[in-house]
Amino acid sequence: MWAELIAVGSELLSWDKAETNSLYISKQLNLLGINVRFKSIVGDAESDIEAVLKAAVSRSQVVIITGGLGPTEDDLTRKAVAKALKRGLVLKEELIEKIKKRFESMGKAMPKNNERQALMPNKAVVIDNPIGTAPGFAIEHDKVLIICLPGVPAEMQRMFEEGAVPLIKKRIDVSEAVRLWIIRTCGIAEAKVDELIGDLYAADKNIRIGLAAGEKGVDVRITSSKASEIETSRLSAELEEKITAILKDYIYGFDNEEMEEIVVRLLMEKGAKLAVAESCTGGLISKRLTDVSGSSACFDRGIVSYSNEAKIQMLKISNDLIKAYGAVSSQVAMAMAESVRRISNTELGIGVTGIAGPTGGTPEKPVGLVYIAISEKGKETRCKGYNFAGNRGMIRMKASQFALNIIRRALLNIQ
Ligand code: ATP
Repeated sequence: MWAELIAVGSELLSWDKAETNSLYISKQLNLLGINVRFKSIVGDAESDIEAVLKAAVSRSQVVIITGGLGPTEDDLTRKAVAKALKRGLVLKEELIEKIKKRFESMGKAMPKNNERQALMPNKAVVIDNPIGTAPGFAIEHDKVLIICLPGVPAEMQRMFEEGAVPLIKKRIDVSEAVRLWIIRTCGIAEAKVDELIGDLYAADKNIRIGLAAGEKGVDVRITSSKASEIETSRLSAELEEKITAILKDYIYGFDNEEMEEIVVRLLMEKGAKLAVAESCTGGLISKRLTDVSGSSACFDRGIVSYSNEAKIQMLKISNDLIKAYGAVSSQVAMAMAESVRRISNTELGIGVTGIAGPTGGTPEKPVGLVYIAISEKGKETRCKGYNFAGNRGMIRMKASQFALNIIRRALLNIQ
């Protein structure tokens, strides 16, 4: 079964706006065992949307369109879909009521324009939008499932998960199911992973093992092309188990799990609180942790002490220490971790200092050098230096990922 994605929005064709919805959707479809064969980006022109959809319907079994469901004149997806599929548009009264209620819950009256969002192609099934005003919809057309969702990434993701996945699952042909398993690692090089699990690559012709290295670590991706066959699914499970046993402590999660979610879960389980003192990551570790809902129960504070003065004033780090070793040093990282833990009275404290570049490096302290220290109640403070490669953004992301990994390992008592 093939899927095809269409992103609608003229802004997505410009140089300063990246199209990201398709990345999320492709991953979710792959996890369900569906491959994406085509994806298109189309501007806000009705005839263009219509043409792209007609082509998609002629060659794919699942078509997912995002964007262009807003209330304004240039939100044309509803009209274009109705035209391409030769269906009329009907005004759904019950949807108008829902959209009105949504506005009321925000203390506003619904603008007349928003009534447009209650227009649906004939025989479309409505997909509720629990966090926005634009409802989505699904249509069965000549054995093709067409799903339309709003463009706003957060709305699209929620509606994809809650509304679209159940509809897609009903259509999966188990005889040709493909499944993707992802084992996520951090702190081990791609070449090392390759060396450790390379013998398993040729285990079965229906199972492919691939590595994907990024700023968050190395993902091992196991794809089985005949996932429904008992023998293949048994082998896939066995392979996953073998790889898990080989890479054990380096594994932080599976499939969609993110490091920050794992860390928050572990902190909650252990009833421990964390405070962070950040320099070169500029608040990224704190941002990632506070992205996780419920993290207020375990994340106490994040201090961005970027300048030497801030380190001295906010963290009470001695000027002599900074002068003696430099702001980017294991001594300062350890003092940051200890100090932020003491100030916050938490079980765990993290200190991160480094050179994110591209300027500021020296032969002794090159760009990418980052010290990460952890202070744990009742234990000796530890620090490690890393040489991360990449541009400024990559170095900061890697540093945040390693810092979170150090917290994970500490919470699991892994040395
Ligand atoms: P709404 O009525 O909620 O605005 P919509 O369906 O009209 O929904 P758009 O107006 O197309 O959505 O987009 C809303 C926002 O989401 C814009 O900021 C847009 O740039 C962003 N967006 C839309 N599609 C994508 C995409 N494929 N990838 C990344 N961002 C997107």
